[in-house]
Amino acid sequence: MKTPMIKSRAIFAIVCVFLMLSCAARQGESDIRSAMGTFCEIKVTGERTESAKRKIDSAFRELERVESLMSLYCSSSEVNLINRESFRRPVAVSCDTFNCLREAVKYSELSGGAFDVTVLPVLRAWGFFGGLLNKPSSETINEACSAVGYLSLELSERGSTVRFLKPNMAIDLGGIGKGYGCDTAVAVLQKETCLNALVNLGGNIYAFGHSSSGRPWKVGLRHPRFKDKVFYSVALNNQAVSTSGDYENYFIDEGRRYSHIIDPRTGCPVSNGVISVSVIAPTATEADALSTAVFVLGLEKGMELVESMEGVKAVIIEERDGSLWANFSRGFGEKRPIKL
Ligand code: ADP
Ligand code: MG
Repeated sequence: MKTPMIKSRAIFAIVCVFLMLSCAARQGESDIRSAMGTFCEIKVTGERTESAKRKIDSAFRELERVESLMSLYCSSSEVNLINRESFRRPVAVSCDTFNCLREAVKYSELSGGAFDVTVLPVLRAWGFFGGLLNKPSSETINEACSAVGYLSLELSERGSTVRFLKPNMAIDLGGIGKGYGCDTAVAVLQKETCLNALVNLGGNIYAFGHSSSGRPWKVGLRHPRFKDKVFYSVALNNQAVSTSGDYENYFIDEGRRYSHIIDPRTGCPVSNGVISVSVIAPTATEADALSTAVFVLGLEKGMELVESMEGVKAVIIEERDGSLWANFSRGFGEKRPIKL
């Protein structure tokens, strides 16, 4: 009489162990490595560890490839080649560099020049790329500004060439390249049939499918003055979020904070009260470029731009009368600014 009972218990136990093992094997994988001058975390869920690992490796290899094309810190990069040669002759570049520049120009046009991929001479004048971080003289700023202007950046679709129409011009993809890199890593994961993943390339995040909990990916937006504090969470579903803040790269002179985001119209670090902008958009390239653009445009004009764009939302944090206020675009449930 006892035998069938023991048998069914044994079968039940075997089934449980099997389910546990197959769940463990399907948990996925995550990895953090340095990439494109920052840290990158890639998480893949809902598939076997081995295949997840393989896909993550491919995505990191893609980031290495994009970095070798676009980094200012790699002397053989195409961006450095453009900066050395493009005033003398049109320089032919790869599809990726050309596409990224085309996107950069698109956001320059959309933002009326607040985003400008040719702002590097000004960043250099302030010491943000080598040299000493300092407040330059107005002559130095004017001289640097005379070499800035995306309208003097000529992109020719025929032959994918880049030309500078003014001397001393130089480009820097710091405001868009990490978003572009994030999108290329996502494209590799999807090409390799990944269904659930999150790529976080230095705060430029894209997520699709679901997290290991089976629910949509959730990302915390960091408080601009307290590194470990999250002030808001957003769910991402085939979407990207990117944040530009005045806290990543800055210096303080006579009590004033000067950050690495430049207003191309003044040649100075932005000082319009905005201290952080997070943009949610359909691609990481768009979120990255727009977060920088909106930072420069300020609360009113920035919000206007965001609300004119399909599928784009933003949280703009402003410092007003010694307090921090998070302002939400339409599309969030929040009707009023939240005091942080
Ligand atoms: P982070 O690089 O910290 O993620 P952003 O995406 O806002 O922040 O990019 C800031 C970088 O963008 C700067 O370090 C610089 O390389 C570049 N940059 C600064 N000002 C501008 C601007 N007005 N337009 C385009 N790029 C800019
Ligand atoms: Mg950006």
